[in-house]
Amino acid sequence: MQDRRKTRQVWIGDSTTGRKAIGGDAPILVQTMTAGYTHEIDACVAEIERYRQAGADVVRVAVPERKDTEALKEILKQVRVPVVADVHFHYQRALEAVEAGIHKIRLNPGNINDRDQVNKVIDACKERKIPIRIGVNEGSIIERKDKQRRMEELGKYFAGHKSGHLLALMIAKLEEYLEIFHARDFHDIVISAKSMDPALVIDIYTEIANRFDYPLHLGVTHAGPKSTGAIRSVAALSTLIANGIGDTLRISYASDHIDEVKDGLEILYCLGKRERKGVELIACPTCGRIQVDLFTLVKEVEAKLSAEIELPIKVAVMGCIVNGPGEAEGADVAVFAGDRRGIIYVQGQRVANVPEAEILDRLLKECKEFEAKVKRGEAKLGEKVVDIVPPDPIGELGSGAQKINAGLVEKVTVRAT
Ligand code: SF4
Repeated sequence: MQDRRKTRQVWIGDSTTGRKAIGGDAPILVQTMTAGYTHEIDACVAEIERYRQAGADVVRVAVPERKDTEALKEILKQVRVPVVADVHFHYQRALEAVEAGIHKIRLNPGNINDRDQVNKVIDACKERKIPIRIGVNEGSIIERKDKQRRMEELGKYFAGHKSGHLLALMIAKLEEYLEIFHARDFHDIVISAKSMDPALVIDIYTEIANRFDYPLHLGVTHAGPKSTGAIRSVAALSTLIANGIGDTLRISYASDHIDEVKDGLEILYCLGKRERKGVELIACPTCGRIQVDLFTLVKEVEAKLSAEIELPIKVAVMGCIVNGPGEAEGADVAVFAGDRRGIIYVQGQRVANVPEAEILDRLLKECKEFEAKVKRGEAKLGEKVVDIVPPDPIGELGSGAQKINAGLVEKVTVRAT
């Protein structure tokens, strides 16, 4: 992991939402965007609130029409998280959003033809100290005229890169846009340069980070369905963050936006960039040793614990005790399954041995009791009280003599029966 890159800092939000910094030494923020219409005020407020509760630090809304910017004033009175207005084509929407008290504008100057119009937005934001995110997404900067010639020409600047021409084009556009802002002495800027190609995202943000000191908003755009989109996003964003690049991020794939927030937070938790909220669940992938329905159990455990446990307790759900104890090392609460049973440990101490049907409830009970102890100061997260003593894999967990006698289980530790 490399040290975080030093950037300028911009501030968003107001006294109702709280002020949040982007860049500098501020924590990396997680963003998402509403999927509903902004002019449907109640639904929009409810959607923003849902994302806030899931952990979003900033929420973006689209304002394609005047009725959307007209709704902003009321929305901003009710929400508790900074809101960004996403403006495309119509500079008036940006001015209206500023007038309504928006906390940040997202703008692609290339989508607004008239330089004076861009200047008006910059001046309005400058007057109110509202930052602007300049987006140079791959899709919005493609030059369609003389495409082939331009690709060859620009590709030379980053020879060796798979998408060298796009890198060159994105950098050139960004420089061009930044000149507009610098001419007005405006520096409350966040830059984004998204693409659907994770390799290009890594390259372009790395190039931008080497050239400019503005905070960066990371994202792989239109990443596809959640199953692959999450991986595309994690591949690019984790690489950049591990390299010290990135001040705010949005995961964007075709799924409920709550998932974007959860996955964005998970990246930060995994890279140690944010203190985890709620349970950290470890689970085994299962193998031929499994004797319970572990996948169902893990799903149920995840749902229950995420709803009922607040502290970052590490919980391990392991399919057996062959590798389980080693793999669950460091877990506060662990269950090792056997033949339709589970043995539960809390910080190394064995506390229960229950049938499969009772594992979920007992595990939840142990987690709750452990959490209460931590809250009372009687236990500490991540502290092992004693070393786990694995149970007898056959006798105690009940996989039993029949299997051994049938030659189905290797005789490791056989108890007298
Ligand atoms: S914990 Fe046991 S069942 Fe799960 S993968 Fe490891 S060895 Fe297989």
